[in-house]
Amino acid sequence: MTRRPFLAGNWKMYKTGTEAKKYLGEFKALVGTLSDRDVALGVPAAAIREAADAAGGSGILIGAQNIHFEKEGAFTGEISADMVKDAGASFVILGHSERRQFFGDTDSWVSKKLRAALGASLIPVVCVGESLAQREAGKTNELVESQLKGSLEGLAPDEAGTLVIAYEPVWAIGTGKTATTDQAQEVHLFIRKKLLELLGEKAAAETRILYGGSVKPDNAKALLAQPDIDGALVGGAALKPDSFAAIVKYDG
Ligand code: PEP
Repeated sequence: MTRRPFLAGNWKMYKTGTEAKKYLGEFKALVGTLSDRDVALGVPAAAIREAADAAGGSGILIGAQNIHFEKEGAFTGEISADMVKDAGASFVILGHSERRQFFGDTDSWVSKKLRAALGASLIPVVCVGESLAQREAGKTNELVESQLKGSLEGLAPDEAGTLVIAYEPVWAIGTGKTATTDQAQEVHLFIRKKLLELLGEKAAAETRILYGGSVKPDNAKALLAQPDIDGALVGGAALKPDSFAAIVKYDG
């Protein structure tokens, strides 16, 4: 089964709308047309509209990094799925480890946000991954399974069409430490088996599973060559147009 690669940047809390516009001008020129893969950028909410306008007809998907699960209401400081969609987002990152660690996002919240994302026709990119202590204690699979089950709670097989999963070992995010290709492939395969149990054959075969954690131009190709690694979620190396362009243009 060939899955279309999904290469996504996560800008975290970096870049204004003005900076996003400048970045996209340079990035588009570097990347040109790539018709065999999806290229995406998760940008701060305040930059979505400018980024989407700047992406124009390039095919580059602009997304949000979080949403609230309610449609609207008295939730000061929050932003809904419909709001980011209206601003130009076509995907949303859910349950990133920084959201789980610093803002208290739980699996249960991620599952509600997933429902909200699907309701607004946003591609959900659901993040899971273990900490260093969990890996060292031999609990990687246990943790990933429980995050997957909790985050996908209530999702029916026929709703999983656009679902994307990102495996991001927390110890590899922003640390310069990358999982080896074998370590990453092993967990990706485990995730695919769990998707089979949770959502059935079609979803297990079609769901794209991205690797995230210190992906750089020099390690992207080897990671993306693994049979169950279908793309990347890239933090630090997506902040500069040239390094993200080098990653998305990997020779697959
Ligand atoms: C991320 O933010 O999801 C991430 C993987 O960051 P980095 O590439 O910097 O490790």
